[in-house]
Amino acid sequence: MTNLRFEDLNIKAPFLKALNEEGYTSPTPIQHETIPLVLKGLDVLGMAQTGTGKTAAFTLPILQKLNSSQSTEKARDPRALILAPTRELAIQINESIRKYGQYIAIKHTVIFGGVKQGPQVKSLERGMDIIVATPGRLLDLINQGFCSLDKIEFFVLDEADRMLDMGFIRDVVKIVKILPKKRQTLFFSATMPDSVIKLANTILTSPKQVKVKSTLTPVERIAQSVIVVEPKDKVLQLITLLKDKVFKSVIVFTKTKHKANRISQKLTAVGIDSEAIHSNKSQAARQKALNGFKDGTIKILIATDIAARGIDVEAVSHIINFDMPSTPEDYVHRIGRTARAGASGIAVSFCEPSERLKLFRIEKLIDLKLEVVQSNLLNPDNLIGYNEEVSSSSQNKKRDYNQFENTKYNSKKMATTKGKSGLKRNAKKTKLLQNKKKENKS
Ligand code: AMP
Repeated sequence: MTNLRFEDLNIKAPFLKALNEEGYTSPTPIQHETIPLVLKGLDVLGMAQTGTGKTAAFTLPILQKLNSSQSTEKARDPRALILAPTRELAIQINESIRKYGQYIAIKHTVIFGGVKQGPQVKSLERGMDIIVATPGRLLDLINQGFCSLDKIEFFVLDEADRMLDMGFIRDVVKIVKILPKKRQTLFFSATMPDSVIKLANTILTSPKQVKVKSTLTPVERIAQSVIVVEPKDKVLQLITLLKDKVFKSVIVFTKTKHKANRISQKLTAVGIDSEAIHSNKSQAARQKALNGFKDGTIKILIATDIAARGIDVEAVSHIINFDMPSTPEDYVHRIGRTARAGASGIAVSFCEPSERLKLFRIEKLIDLKLEVVQSNLLNPDNLIGYNEEVSSSSQNKKRDYNQFENTKYNSKKMATTKGKSGLKRNAKKTKLLQNKKKENKS
C-alpha cells in the first residue's frame, strides 16, 4: 500500500464511498500506477499477479468513465467487455464491479459456460453496460445473435498468460476481431512470456507499461517450504499436517481432478472434512464449495490449478502443493492464493525425490532458495480410520527420514550449482550424495 489516497487519484465520491465501506483507504501499487493512465484514456499493458489489487485497478476507472457518460436507453449494448480465463475469476470480477459500483446506476452481468444459457441471454436482452465473460460462451452467444460488441469502448483482457495456457487464444483473437477499432484496451498478465507479448502487440495501441515493483512481491510475504516425500507417503503427510490446528483455511493443490476427489475421500476416512473443486463439478457445486470456503464452513479445499484461479479469499492460511505444479509459473499462481491484499501466508510443497528439477526451476523463477524441511511428522496415531495402504507406508518411516536428511543437505549445497548446465548440476548432485553417504558411514 502507498501513503496516497484514492482521492488523490481523482476517484469520485460514489466510488470513494464504496471503497471506504470495504475498508480500502490507500491504493495498492498497481492501482496507483494504472488508475491515472486509464482515466487519461491510454492503453495499458500490466504485469501483475492476482492478489495485488489489479481487479480494482481496471474496474474503478472504467466504472468512473462509464458513469460520466451514462446511457439512459434501457436496452443498451455493452460498452465495456472484460474477458477472464475461468468462470470463477469472471464471477469474482463481476462481484468486484457490484461492490465498487454499488452507488451508481450501472448494469453488469457475467457470462460463462457450463450452465444453461437462458438466464444469460435474458440479462443481455435487458441491456448491459459491462459484460464480464469467459471467451467460449461469449462467442457462442455472439454467434447466435444474442450479444453485440459494436458499442464496446473498454476492453480488458485479464490473466492473458492463463488464457493462452488454457488454449483460449483462438477464441480471444476472434472476439478481438469483432471489437470496434476505436477503443481503450487494458491487458493484464502475471507473466510475460514471448507468446503473451506477441498477443499484446496485436491488440494494444501504444500501451503504457505498468509493472508492480516486482511480480514477486506477494511471493516474498509467503513463508515457503518444501517437504521431500515419497509418492506413497504423501497422503499420510497431508493428514499429519491437516491435523495440526494451525492449518485453518487451506487449499490443497493436486495435478488431476481424479486425484482431488480421491484425496478428499481419503481425508473423509480419517474424519477430516474437505471439498474437491475442479472443472468436472457442476458450476453450482463449485460455487457452493467456494462460498463455504469463504464463510469458513469448509476449511479445506482440494483444487486443481484451473479451478483455483478465481479463489479470492483473504484468509487462506495455507497452500499445500500435494503435487508439484507442472510449470514454475503455476507455483506463483498457486501460492498467490494466500497472502492476499497485504496479508502473509504459508505455502508447503510436497516434492517427490524425482522432482528436484521442478524445484530448481521454481527457485530460479522466484529467485529464492526454498527451505527444505525435515518431516518427522509422520505420526502413526493419524492412521486411525485410515486404510492398509497408508499404514504399511508408515513402517518406512525411518527410511523416509533419512531421505529428508539427504534432502536438507542437498538443498544447502545445491546453491553452489546455480547457473551450471543440467548435466553438470546432476554430476555435482551425485557427487554430493556420494560424499554424504561416506560421511554417514564414517
Ligand atoms: P485482486 O488482485 O484484484 O485479485 O485483489 C486482491 C484482493 O485485494 C481482493 O480481496 C481485493 O478486494 C483486495 N483489495 C483491492 N484493492 C485493495 C486496496 N486498495 N486495499 C486493500 N485491499 C484491496
